[in-house]
Amino acid sequence: MNRVAEETWRARVRGSLLGGAIGDALGGPVEFQDGRSIMAEHPDRLRTFVSGPAEWPPGTITDDTQMTLFTVEGLIRAGVRTDRGLGFTVAVVQHAYDRWLDTQTQPGPTGERDGWLHAEQWLYARRAPGTTCLNALTEARKGEPRIPQFGAEAINDSKGCGGVMRVAPFGLLPAMFPTDWVFDSAATAAGYTHGHPTGKLAAGTLAAIVHEICGGATLDAALDTATALLVQHPNHEETSTTLSFARHLAATGAERGPVTVERLGGGWVAEEALAIAVYAALACPAPEQILDALALSVTHSGDSDSTGAICGNVLGALHGETALPPELVFTVEGRPVILQLADDFALEFTEASKRLHGDYGPHTTWITRYPGW
Ligand SMILES: [Mg+2]
Repeated sequence: MNRVAEETWRARVRGSLLGGAIGDALGGPVEFQDGRSIMAEHPDRLRTFVSGPAEWPPGTITDDTQMTLFTVEGLIRAGVRTDRGLGFTVAVVQHAYDRWLDTQTQPGPTGERDGWLHAEQWLYARRAPGTTCLNALTEARKGEPRIPQFGAEAINDSKGCGGVMRVAPFGLLPAMFPTDWVFDSAATAAGYTHGHPTGKLAAGTLAAIVHEICGGATLDAALDTATALLVQHPNHEETSTTLSFARHLAATGAERGPVTVERLGGGWVAEEALAIAVYAALACPAPEQILDALALSVTHSGDSDSTGAICGNVLGALHGETALPPELVFTVEGRPVILQLADDFALEFTEASKRLHGDYGPHTTWITRYPGW
């Protein structure tokens, strides 16, 4: 990558992670609220951070962002691992989710885990974490098959959106990682907790969309490529049909509101969450419409924080960080950590990493922060 291309890519990485957090925080307080009652309170759709249940202050992020940050950390560690000649191992991400589990079961950092993200006290907050994620990761600790491989026998039959809502960072990996590899790796990472084919395939599709966008594709072209990969997999029909309906709704100019969004479902399951996010992004495609898209993606009766998070992941990658609404960037919870992870991800996956750690080189501060496992 030349320097200009690297700057653009870095803006997409920051935009996607920050955009996801903003969508998550926008939708979190209304996750369990009916679309009509949201519209009654916010006639122009929900465009500002509001307070959430259990005294969440405006701008509070939820499990979607927490898990996405651990995905980023896991990918950086997998990158560090390659310097030891071990190859890029997606299973490292499973260990990152295991550390996330600590944040949901312990009052604070135990000091017994390595790295730095696990030591962030603010992440030790339960924000309606997905039961499937908690159960599957708890079972994995008990010695259940820890790393179910893609296509292998499932550990459960869940296609909840808890897989797709955390895998966008796979799409942020640079072009040296081919898009079909990104698809399959994200699907595998979703499969650590979600055993149903749709839970994995929707995740693979999202990562492929984000990866194509980061390579310079338009959203439509990215959707074409991701769909072409999707339909090569068995059991793709649920995801491909719902995604195609989302594109149809956007193309026909259906009224932008909860009634149209809810024709795609509630987003509690993976293919619907992806479809709602894609619909909102397609319906409001310009950089200056990014808040319209995010508002559309969260104003409905379904799983608003996850649909908002995915929409923000896609549009943040597409338009870059400066397109994000400044009043929401400014107040979203966890911004310092989100941006530090984004920048560390960019450092790890560019030439810069050679100066942070080297082939079988001496132990460095970087490796203390990101041990290669
Ligand atoms: Mg959530």
